[in-house]
Amino acid sequence: MSRLDDTARFAAEDDGAIVAAALVCPYCLSGPAQALVTEDRAGGGSAICACASCRIQWSIALDSGQVTRLFLNPPPGLWILHHAALQEETSGWQRPDRHRSDA
Ligand SMILES: [Zn+2]
Repeated sequence: MSRLDDTARFAAEDDGAIVAAALVCPYCLSGPAQALVTEDRAGGGSAICACASCRIQWSIALDSGQVTRLFLNPPPGLWILHHAALQEETSGWQRPDRHRSDA
């Protein structure tokens, strides 16, 4: 596992404001505009966040409950990118789904 800058400090059932606070920029404390979330096969995952003002990015370790929370109920204003879904979407553009027309 690669080295991560920090560990997320929120519970899966926490309020959106607490989840957002756990992902803020460590320098200016403003929220990241987007987070790239990657799931590990072992459970849990990580988020890569970036701050446009400070021009830095940082990584945060997530447990499996936190990963699920970010996908199902992300904090308002934060654009969550799912690393695996991103790859599926890209390949889907070249392969249109034709199974539905048979029914
Ligand atoms: Zn910043």
